[in-house]
Amino acid sequence: MGKRGVQYFTLSEIEPRIWFMLTGCDFCCKGCFRPARDGGGTLLSAEETLERAEQACLKYYGQLPPKAMITGGEPTLDREYLMALVTGLKAKGFKEIILMSNGYEIGQQENYASELVDAGLTEAHIDVKAFSEDIHIWYTGKSNKQVLNAVRMLNDTGIELLIQTVYMPGIVDDKEIERIAEFLSTVNKAMKHRINPFTPTFAFEEVTRRPTIEEIEQAYKLAAKHLPNAIISRSCYREYPTPPAQETWITVYPDLTFKQRSIKDQEEDRIAWLSQARAIPKEEILQALNRADVGYVQELTEVIMKKSPIYLAPSTNQKGVK
Ligand code: SF4
Repeated sequence: MGKRGVQYFTLSEIEPRIWFMLTGCDFCCKGCFRPARDGGGTLLSAEETLERAEQACLKYYGQLPPKAMITGGEPTLDREYLMALVTGLKAKGFKEIILMSNGYEIGQQENYASELVDAGLTEAHIDVKAFSEDIHIWYTGKSNKQVLNAVRMLNDTGIELLIQTVYMPGIVDDKEIERIAEFLSTVNKAMKHRINPFTPTFAFEEVTRRPTIEEIEQAYKLAAKHLPNAIISRSCYREYPTPPAQETWITVYPDLTFKQRSIKDQEEDRIAWLSQARAIPKEEILQALNRADVGYVQELTEVIMKKSPIYLAPSTNQKGVK
């Protein structure tokens, strides 16, 4: 069996749960903010990954938590590894096993979705980045046919499914989001579709600006015409590093060293990654960060809090961790 790069595990201080951060990705999203997409980490088999995750949980929580989130990078790249990981998590008694994926591999490999569910997967979060094939290829480097297929296949299994789309002004705007919602409604009228605002601050490429609240609201209205369960995000674990309610997380590296990491630590990691990836000095990245519209984030949060019921809280508490 192959090994996967494991960047780290994350443990929550709020509620016992563990995130598995696997490295490498088959997409090249222009707006990606995940250093994990570029590979690296410690190469581990699924058994080794499970062993170290278990040791980390026992050391910190004194027991295994009920919830495991498998994320990256892209967790589906090595099917055998992922099946073994999910099977092992179920055998260890995890009640909720959640996969966060771009869907591409699941949609192009026969029975991948159903086998994952048979192995113990309880929930999947899939990014549908664009409905138009040309936009999808431009943004990710890959076709979206497999992604849409993954949505259908996962829906057929009957597990909990959340679809996420990032609003990117001029690229994936309200009309494009409505197309996605329309498609989703043909698969399952009750599908949950979360719309997240793009933020250029930590994006690999600053392809566009942050959308306004009005733009996001308009996209929500169009999506909600087709899907009663459309949601505007309070936080997004993929492309929107909104400051979460919790201030720190416990990061456990594969050598089992622990570090309490704050939002600032996360920012520093991303700044270092962007500086290297874009080959520009850290100071320039920092300047962009300082220009970032923190007020907007606060404003958005306030609007969201004020305007429930159309703004539903995410079904799972991702808190921006990945
Ligand atoms: S946003 Fe997600 S799918 Fe896209 S390149 Fe980054 S890690 Fe991969």
